Amino acid sequence: MEETFMTITSRKYGALPDGNDVFLFELTNSRGLTIEIINYGGTIVSIIMPDAKDRFEDIVLGCDNLEDYLAQTKYFGATTGRFANRIEGGVFELNDKRYELEMNDGENHLHGGLVGFDKVLWDAEIKTANGQKYLELTYLSKDGEEGYPGNLEVTIKFTLSEENELKIDYKAISDRDTIVNLSNHSYFNLAGYDGGDIGCHQLMINSKQFTAVDEDCLTNGDIVSVEGTPFDFTELTSIGQGMQSKHEQIVNGMGYDHNWILDFSGEGLQKAAELYHPDSGRFVEVFTTKPGLQFYSGNFLDGTDKGKHGIYYKSRTGCCLETQFFPNSMKHTHFPSPILRAGDKYSYVTVYKFSTR
Ligand code: BGC
Repeated sequence: MEETFMTITSRKYGALPDGNDVFLFELTNSRGLTIEIINYGGTIVSIIMPDAKDRFEDIVLGCDNLEDYLAQTKYFGATTGRFANRIEGGVFELNDKRYELEMNDGENHLHGGLVGFDKVLWDAEIKTANGQKYLELTYLSKDGEEGYPGNLEVTIKFTLSEENELKIDYKAISDRDTIVNLSNHSYFNLAGYDGGDIGCHQLMINSKQFTAVDEDCLTNGDIVSVEGTPFDFTELTSIGQGMQSKHEQIVNGMGYDHNWILDFSGEGLQKAAELYHPDSGRFVEVFTTKPGLQFYSGNFLDGTDKGKHGIYYKSRTGCCLETQFFPNSMKHTHFPSPILRAGDKYSYVTVYKFSTR
């Protein structure tokens, strides 16, 4: 069995108002890449990586302490679930039964509701398999939580490799038919968490089509070609110009806040996206087994959430690359189905790979 150099240490991070302790886990590999995760919200707190000249920076937005995480409203680094993104009207029908979910985004349900997976305390354990250490988070979401059917047991494994890959392995199982769509809501700024406007980043998304949204950021069922639009990221392209575009879909999303349909053939882990910051040379690749990728350009960051070292994150100072089923997919039956049948296994993998060029 090959022993790897990855280490995981843990320390107490704080205590929740109900008295439960929150722990921080630091994953480090021999190349010096460090990732911190807390078990409140299954939240990635920091990703510290070098630039092309070996200067290390923390490249994700977040907070300095638990109190600020409890106060913020922007899902910094969090695990989103049971259902990432929006469910229109907070309702869906399954097996001829109508389920009414908590509404936390006007008349809609967003990222799992009032107390989504981003706001719960996960059980955490440092484990080893095949000589490789990983952090395992587990959570039992009880039948009826936020309106969803089924006791849902969720397990998420975070593994850091010597190749600077963060692998997130999502698994869930339910005792009743239900719906599931888990993701991670890390906001990247490859200039550093305090790097300001993300317009100079370049993006590639392995996709020729995206799902259109209405003025409430809800998918309306239309599938649109990216060709000749600001949504064409088939090659590495700066995001700044498109973010300012008057394209109807950019106006509806208040910037980029859309799901791209990944151009995957067959099964398995495939390249979904690349994010590149020419000034620093930092480069992030995203691989996934899921059919969709939400690129969200941080449009709703509004300077009200206290961030690291006293920063208040302004609009478009971080962007998310969220792997997922398509938003609102119970409404549009031509979208891949997010239904998880009782006893079946929900299982998928996303890898973020960090390098410089
Ligand atoms: C969504 C945005 C939403 C944001 C909340 C993103 O995943 O696409 O519409 O406002 O999460 O932080």
